[in-house]
Amino acid sequence: MSKALLYDATLCVGCKACEGACAEQNKLPYDETIAAEQVQSDHKFTVVLNKNEKYMRRLCMHCQDPACASVCPVGALHKTAAGPVVYEEDRCMGCRYCMAACPFGVPKYEWSKVLPKVQKCVMCPDRVAAGRPTACTEACPTGATKFGEREELIQEARDRIRQNPSNYVPHVFGIEEVGGTSVLILSGVAFEEFGLKPNELPKDPLPLYTYRVLSRIPDFVPLGGMVLGGVWWITHRREEVAAAEAAEKKEDRGGSR
Ligand code: SF4
Ligand code: SF4
Ligand code: SF4
Repeated sequence: MSKALLYDATLCVGCKACEGACAEQNKLPYDETIAAEQVQSDHKFTVVLNKNEKYMRRLCMHCQDPACASVCPVGALHKTAAGPVVYEEDRCMGCRYCMAACPFGVPKYEWSKVLPKVQKCVMCPDRVAAGRPTACTEACPTGATKFGEREELIQEARDRIRQNPSNYVPHVFGIEEVGGTSVLILSGVAFEEFGLKPNELPKDPLPLYTYRVLSRIPDFVPLGGMVLGGVWWITHRREEVAAAEAAEKKEDRGGSR
């Protein structure tokens, strides 16, 4: 049994309490300017999109078999049995393959920082491990975001559609997409309006495609190229960081004279 979130867009009033709670939980800045931003970013792990008074929450989908984890060469991302796809920044070498692999465009990179890392919603793993709901769930005043066992939430989502068919698009997003996700979504308007494309996403886990493609490549030549490219990038990045630190120290010395 693993935990999941059920977001029901028909119950969402766009108050953004989930955004604020997420920022507090993850010690991120949050003010009116950030609240108005309509994209997930390195400082905004969840966003409530608004179109004509219809809402849609976006956050990491916590895929059952995550593509981000399958391409990470150092295992910085991994799916836990409890549900969350977590990220260990100490392991991350900054190659950003996860960003290229994620079908939902979730991982973001701290481009403006000297020592950047990848950022994304990690589904409050400490809370989940302690049997508590995620911070965004706890803050939601309408029950639009609900936390629970994935199988029970799937059943509940189906029941909601059955009991109120005119309220919903007859599809629970996240049961099958990319092999299933630990975030399930119900909507009253076409998912495509908010950039979610159930008809275009494969039902198989994306890592399967990675393996299928790799198995057809003789001697894994492009993979070797990717690894070498990664090594080059790390070396290059270290040089950049060292240069930036040296410049900063020089400036400090100049300022303290
Ligand atoms: S949505 Fe993207 S970042 Fe989140 S678990 Fe799936 S592949 Fe990884
Ligand atoms: S699950 Fe946790 S990290 Fe993810 S959006 Fe909610 S509060 Fe933020
Ligand atoms: S807290 Fe709940 S109602 Fe408010 S924006 Fe987030 S999901 Fe919607």
